[in-house]
Amino acid sequence: MRILVISDIHANYTAFETVLKDAQGQWDYVWCLGDVVGYGPDPNECVEKLREMPHLCLAGNHDWAALERLDIRTFNPDARRAVDWTRETLTPDNTRWLEALPVTFVIGDYTLAHASPREPIWEYILETKTAADNFPHFETPYCLVGHTHQPIIYEMVSEGDTTAMRPSYGKQRPLNGRRQIINPGSVGQPRDTDPRAAYALLDFDKNIWEHRRIPYDVGAVQRRMRQQRMPDRLIARLEMGM
Ligand SMILES: [Zn+2]
Repeated sequence: MRILVISDIHANYTAFETVLKDAQGQWDYVWCLGDVVGYGPDPNECVEKLREMPHLCLAGNHDWAALERLDIRTFNPDARRAVDWTRETLTPDNTRWLEALPVTFVIGDYTLAHASPREPIWEYILETKTAADNFPHFETPYCLVGHTHQPIIYEMVSEGDTTAMRPSYGKQRPLNGRRQIINPGSVGQPRDTDPRAAYALLDFDKNIWEHRRIPYDVGAVQRRMRQQRMPDRLIARLEMGM
């Protein structure tokens, strides 16, 4: 089975649609690692598109924020405004769908979590030390996470010794049996100074992984954000990939 692995769509339907077009005909099932909503102008469109497809989707911190499951006082003011707007905009049916999302999932050789296997909603794996600390918290060879919006592969060399590799896009890479924590990057709000949408393809049976990166019409989504009077900083960051 071929899996389309996506994460952090963040209510950016333009980016989501572009990813689906790019990957068309190349997958059988979708794994979404959470944060379908939050920040962007299209929460209902993104949830409904995902619901149409055969999928498995996890809950992210922004999905929980939209459900009032989180205390959003720790969010910055712009993120808080976006959360309030998202809550008001989501249809009751789409809200119920978000409420039912699991926090982690184990399937075959893969453990899935939005943030980390240790703290599935919250923890940012941004360096090798945190990645190393997380390997004891899952049992499968591979763990897939989103949350940082940065595509990366952490590989356990030996206990406590972990390396980080930046992906080469568009190249198939057989997973080599060594334990790895892999982030496909963010569809709708990349934060590695590259504004292009990120996603991945996985051949589930052969354990072959491919990171991908594609440009989308950032201006189109920014126009919809302006129409909704979303915070300027959130609008500007999309074109910077920050
Ligand atoms: Zn996110």
